[in-house]
Amino acid sequence: MIQNTIAIDGPAASGKSTAAEALAKRLDFLYFDTGVMYRAVTWAVLDQLGAVDDEDAVSQIARNIKIDVNPATVADGRPNDVLVNGRDITWEIRSAAVNAGVSPVSTYPQVRDAMTVQQRRIGVGGMVVMVGRDIGTVVMPDAEMKFFINASAEVRAQRRYKEVLERGLSERYEDILASILLRDQIDSSRTVAPLRPAADAIIIDSDHLTREEVVITLLDYWSKRDV
Ligand code: C5P
Repeated sequence: MIQNTIAIDGPAASGKSTAAEALAKRLDFLYFDTGVMYRAVTWAVLDQLGAVDDEDAVSQIARNIKIDVNPATVADGRPNDVLVNGRDITWEIRSAAVNAGVSPVSTYPQVRDAMTVQQRRIGVGGMVVMVGRDIGTVVMPDAEMKFFINASAEVRAQRRYKEVLERGLSERYEDILASILLRDQIDSSRTVAPLRPAADAIIIDSDHLTREEVVITLLDYWSKRDV
């Protein structure tokens, strides 16, 4: 087991990233959202190829890409600055085009290999809360504590819709729901590292919990763990 490592997995918009960020802050751990890496690769693929279906070309981009996640330098609500080959793409990776392309890109085994190597390098140092789909099962199977945060698709779509409105963008609730359902389906059914809870993960259903209540629940489990 790697002491002081927390793995948090769950489907799109389950509230896992917000909760993980707050948990990391409280524990003074590094917060690392692996979804950002898959999104950054997808953004670069769309930028360079215009489509995500050429597996070899996509894999090559994933192997050569330089992704940096740095402390935020702009106060516009971003948790971090995300740079690809030096260019700030923090908000671009949240676009509808990236949302649509990221799950197909994430099914490619060589893309996953390239990302997993980098994520493990960050994980072995400890003092980290790492978030994604396969952290407890593949990236850090020896994490000290594992959570799987879930919520119904409708609640998740409502949360995303609210965020979109708050950022002044216009997307339809129905489209967001459809995109979430499609991503769930692709993420759960892929052959390599599918979305599923690790056998020893604590499962949290966040449908009826506020953001604060999710964080309190996680902190409670952490403080009561066997040490
Ligand atoms: O968490 P987020 O919604 O930003 O993740 C975007 C996509 O990246 C997911 O839908 C999934 O396809 C992929 N992903 C993954 N493995 C991870 C993190 C994200 O396959 N560890």
